[in-house]
Amino acid sequence: METRSTTLLVIGGGPGGYVAAIRAAQLGIATTLIEGEKLGGTCLNVGCIPSKALIHAAGEFDKVCRYGADSALGIQVQSPRIDLAQMVRWKDGIVEKLTGGVAALLKKNGVQVVRGWARIVDGKTAEVAAGAGQEAVRIVCDHLLLATGSLPVALAALPFGGKVISSTDALAPQALPRRLLVVGAGYIGLELGTVYRKLGSEVSVVEAQDRVLPAYDEDLAKPVAVSLRRLGVQLHPGCTVAGWSASGDAVRIRDAQGAESMLPADQVLVAVGRRPRTEGWGMESLMLDMNGRAVRIDDQCRTSMRQVWAIGDVTGEPMLAHRAMAQGAMVAEIIAGKRRHFSPAAIPAVCFTDPEIVVVGRTPQDAAQAGLDCIHAMFPFAANGRALTLDSPSGFVRVVARRDNHLIAGWQAVGTGVSELATAFSHAIEMGARLEDVAGTIHAHPTLGEAVQEAALRALGQALHV
Ligand code: FAD
Ligand code: NAD
Repeated sequence: METRSTTLLVIGGGPGGYVAAIRAAQLGIATTLIEGEKLGGTCLNVGCIPSKALIHAAGEFDKVCRYGADSALGIQVQSPRIDLAQMVRWKDGIVEKLTGGVAALLKKNGVQVVRGWARIVDGKTAEVAAGAGQEAVRIVCDHLLLATGSLPVALAALPFGGKVISSTDALAPQALPRRLLVVGAGYIGLELGTVYRKLGSEVSVVEAQDRVLPAYDEDLAKPVAVSLRRLGVQLHPGCTVAGWSASGDAVRIRDAQGAESMLPADQVLVAVGRRPRTEGWGMESLMLDMNGRAVRIDDQCRTSMRQVWAIGDVTGEPMLAHRAMAQGAMVAEIIAGKRRHFSPAAIPAVCFTDPEIVVVGRTPQDAAQAGLDCIHAMFPFAANGRALTLDSPSGFVRVVARRDNHLIAGWQAVGTGVSELATAFSHAIEMGARLEDVAGTIHAHPTLGEAVQEAALRALGQALHV
């Protein structure tokens, strides 16, 4: 077996691992990255990017269909139809462009990429078995970075296989099921459930908690529930799945009182969360301290073993690509000798439902629970000119700020296109803006961003347009 040595060995080429590798190489650190499947990881191949591509495509199709039925805008369209195979090819083209870009960036920066599944030997050594056209290799390193991501959680009552699919299968449909049952009304269940509904499937969603998006503030989740019902999605909150019916064409669901009923289904998308990928590649042998099923890390992404680091989904919630990337860049900089800590003022969360939701920092409830004395104010998109011209008047922007000094503690928004407001929200919080800073900034007209300024004005008792 060939033996190589490197300063930094990264296991996993997702957004955490590839960003860490690029940044380390930029800083002159000899870096090797091992990837068992495809560069870009979950995010680029079977996560963020393909899901957002299909959300856009399904949204366009739905819009065209609605023009056929109700032409308030004066647009008339006849008999739109979908070429599903072409839609999937378009999505795959975007994925290929981005993953090819990652490969090119790693190469340009001088990162050694090894294809194959890494197996940990010890805290300084990993091996990759011989594979297609590649000899087995043992890599010895000074620093080991674990960035192996996560996998979908399976349900004992409906294990993956056959008609029971994960998000990965749902992102590459060969045909649309007539009736799709979605288990879990979280990010994936609602983002992809909406896609299938807009493309024409009958969609039911079963959620164990008493409402959709239970991890989000109720005021934000409510407009999404209203929109799902308007689209014709059947919601079954407070229910769990018990397995297939005897005939195999329906799923037995159980409500909080234990009463069972049947939901007909041709396919079931199980989206009940993801678990850190910590097993099956020798990581257990390191005996690292764990935080539940995730690798425990400190605020520099150090594990309990010296010079073994971990980032991204393998370290648990929040399992978001931008968190993984930020952690990856930071670890590279620490190894290069810079003084860094992972202490963002806030990590934005965006749910790409219809309407979209953005949360950055504290909600009024979070602030109260943390014992902060805060004020909050919201501005409705119904009073925003741009929202009306986009034919999307529902939703709002809300700001939360400390009562004493008006320091902004949080932003929330729900509405069409609000994902793009995440940037302004994050900037304000990370830069320590006060209500007066946002209220006193000229915001371009007509834009959705004016609702951000108006929310700040309203919190100061100076609202102009509501
Ligand atoms: P991953 O992206 O999972 O990458 C880990 C990589 O490690 C994989 O490529 C894997 O093959 C490789 N690997 C694992 N073990 C080994 C081994 N032993 N040897 C070699 N290679 C190995 N997040 C957002 O922020 N925004 C979104 O809109 C969003 N949408 C999503 C939609 C879906 C459908 C899903 C499933 C996830 C979504 N996420 C989103 C979450 C996001 O994809 C993850 O948070 C992110 O990919 C985590 O990055 P990571 O680098 O930690 O792990
Ligand atoms: P999730 O945690 O967002 O939602 C899972 C939902 O399933 C929850 O509402 C939970 O109450 C419910 N649930 C759990 N067990 C159940 C059961 N037995 N029966 C019925 N309902 C059940 O998880 P997800 O949607 O699978 O997404 C996984 C992760 O991927 C997310 O946590 C997020 O980190 C990431 N992701 C992010 C985005 C984004 O940023 N826009 C999009 C997709 C995925």
